[in-house]
Amino acid sequence: MCCGLCGDTHLTPVLELVPTPPANAFVAERALGEVQACFPLELVLCESCRHVQLAHILDRYAMVGDAVDADSDWPEHQAHNLAWARELMERCCAPEQSLVIDIGCNDGSLMKLFEDAGWRVQGVEPSVNVAGTAIGRGIDTYPGFFQPSIAARIEDERGPARLVIAHDLMSQTDDPSGFFEGVRMLLRPDGLFSFEVPSLHALVADAGVDMITHATLDYHSVAPLMRALNQNGLELIAATRTRLHGSRLRGMARPMGGPALVEASVAALLADERRLGLADPDTYRTLASRLATIRNQLAVYLDSAKTTRLRIAAYGAQAGATTLLYQFGLDADVITFIADASPLHAGRYTPGLHIPVVAAAELEARRPDVVVVLAWQDAQAIAAQHPDFEAAGGRFLCPLPVPAPCA
Ligand SMILES: [Zn+2]
Repeated sequence: MCCGLCGDTHLTPVLELVPTPPANAFVAERALGEVQACFPLELVLCESCRHVQLAHILDRYAMVGDAVDADSDWPEHQAHNLAWARELMERCCAPEQSLVIDIGCNDGSLMKLFEDAGWRVQGVEPSVNVAGTAIGRGIDTYPGFFQPSIAARIEDERGPARLVIAHDLMSQTDDPSGFFEGVRMLLRPDGLFSFEVPSLHALVADAGVDMITHATLDYHSVAPLMRALNQNGLELIAATRTRLHGSRLRGMARPMGGPALVEASVAALLADERRLGLADPDTYRTLASRLATIRNQLAVYLDSAKTTRLRIAAYGAQAGATTLLYQFGLDADVITFIADASPLHAGRYTPGLHIPVVAAAELEARRPDVVVVLAWQDAQAIAAQHPDFEAAGGRFLCPLPVPAPCA
């Protein structure tokens, strides 16, 4: 195995988690008798460029479902997309009929916003069925994983792009270098590449272990990313952590020598990452002991709740919930059900542990005493959506960044 960014084979294991099934492998009631296999969940640190990635990679084709990303239905996700699209359009200041390409375009909703604003649009989407949804909305979409050969075809048919967007797909490619090469091939000299990737800064600073699933191969920080971009003819000009779920690194790059200026945000985030010690293996040992402490604190609290016959449930059946349940020992003996706002998982059971998932409204109907908020980044919004639950004496408990009642 080698580093996905620089190719070096010297990789140091830094964080070993409890093995889990694929985080999105929710099961129907009829499949409850089948035992689901667990796979190692471990991070390694590249000794050369200090990139952090998964040590064990499952077949990426098996990881891509045919369901449209459930997140795209969330109002806050749509608002996030809309704000991002507006920001990108303002920054590009591009003439009508400029080409924008969305890699990992999902159902095409982001491209629709650009099309309505007079851009020519092109999507790329790995799931054939989901690509079909985008095509059905009138968005020209290539089904398949983005790579230089697809870039060459698009460039040939539609010309160079003013803007290339990769909202999330970089976390699902096992060849970031080839990905960047394809992006560089597609961009005009004054073009921009806007991307979001899982943030290693967020993982370490917030103990955000739920970011780690088999579908997320890479956990990015600025220094290794800059090096990989440079090697493929691209240069990072802006870098921030996004507010949606707080766990993404949003970057903007240009072809080397392009007209856009390098902004102060790049140096600021680099300095922040240095302070956190992201390049140091000891940082991850500290993170592991922090996770062990959180697991113990939760166990003490929930054991005492169970002893006093309080009924315990959880909220949030997003992919990262599987990681949290396994790392913190929250099984069906502790958690009686998980409420979730998305209709995608209601009526199904969590991967491996087989905890039932129910609609969010069940919280008021079933009235558990304590609810562990697995979607902890959205805890405030969740509590605001269920005032009756708290008014009736129910308590929301946030497991991260430290176990505490939701404020
Ligand atoms: Zn490397």
